[in-house]
Amino acid sequence: MECMRLVRRFHRKLREMRIFVRAMHSTSHPILAQIVPIRRCNLDCAYCDEYDKTSAPVPLETMLRRIDLLAELGTTIITLSGGEPTLHPDLDALIRHIRHCGAIATLITNGLLLTPDRIRAFNRAGLDYLQISIDNVAPDDVSKKSLRVLDRKLEWLARYAEFGVTINSVLGAGVRNPEDAITVGRRARELGFTSTVGILHGHAGQLQPLTPDQRSVYERFRRLGTALFSFAHFDHFQENIGRGLPNDWHCRAGGRFLYVCEDGLVHYCSQQRGRPGIPLDTYTVDDIRREGARPKGCAPFCTIACVHQTAMLDEFRERPRETLNGILDRRRALDPHFRPPAAVGILSWLFLDRRRRGFFGKLIVSALRLKRS
Ligand code: SF4
Ligand code: SF4
Repeated sequence: MECMRLVRRFHRKLREMRIFVRAMHSTSHPILAQIVPIRRCNLDCAYCDEYDKTSAPVPLETMLRRIDLLAELGTTIITLSGGEPTLHPDLDALIRHIRHCGAIATLITNGLLLTPDRIRAFNRAGLDYLQISIDNVAPDDVSKKSLRVLDRKLEWLARYAEFGVTINSVLGAGVRNPEDAITVGRRARELGFTSTVGILHGHAGQLQPLTPDQRSVYERFRRLGTALFSFAHFDHFQENIGRGLPNDWHCRAGGRFLYVCEDGLVHYCSQQRGRPGIPLDTYTVDDIRREGARPKGCAPFCTIACVHQTAMLDEFRERPRETLNGILDRRRALDPHFRPPAAVGILSWLFLDRRRRGFFGKLIVSALRLKRS
């Protein structure tokens, strides 16, 4: 089991490296698309506007076609979200198809329906990553995505999952006890998972300022310790949001990030549904370029972390030296004794010099057989 886990991890990292190189090489494909196979959810979190209690699963054939269309646009990561995607009867077939198309397959779930058999089925289908958000330690009238409810499922994941697991703690309005985020983060790390902290957004994906207590928990959470290239260190967006400050960035949703709803329409993100609202089967590279370039008034106080992350890759592409220095500075601010690993020195030597970058970049692009677009 442990051996299989290591093999799968190594293979995943190689495929991620290819995604990174591709994102550095071309700006005309979506890095990440979220796709909704079912809008229904088996929970009813008080802050959520992304679910209903009645809708049927999107038929398998329709979903497979949408995954094909995303793959034709060059999408490199496809995330199944919802509603609650584990309510879809053909979820394994969808995951298998995403992998068959060459994309990284990820799943966002509330975790309630996880069992050892379900986890083994995800392994067989080739799931790459699974993410669960846990809102509190004990269930309350706002959310039942609680550590006490889910802890057994987390233990099963630690025992059986061959895919990567991320546990996201949350802070913000609706979370009664901010300390719960630290308890959840500690438990996630104890079980060997990646743990992140997100900030609950208000209407239209916008920031609701954190209280001083919540901000102090946020800062402590960041010090729990993560790998050098975790988005936690890379992520100046979340740092500003944690302080209630606006971010000066260009949101490339509609281009580098797509949200495809259950009706097969492309939207900027889950919180900006209706814009641009173009059917996926007519979405082209021209749409990707135009919508990705369009300024979004909601950007300064946006809390949608997965869109920030795609923007960070573009930031790295456009300003590699400043971005790398920013990562190292943030890491040093958390740990004054931090020394960058040798690999960082080698990569800096290879890619931060313009001429060397051109030479080695071409070599890698040709080794990975990537086309310029
Ligand atoms: S589990 Fe997720 S989709 Fe379902 S109501 Fe809660 S936040 Fe919304
Ligand atoms: S800035 Fe982009 S990701 Fe954020 S809410 Fe607006 S469209 Fe969505």
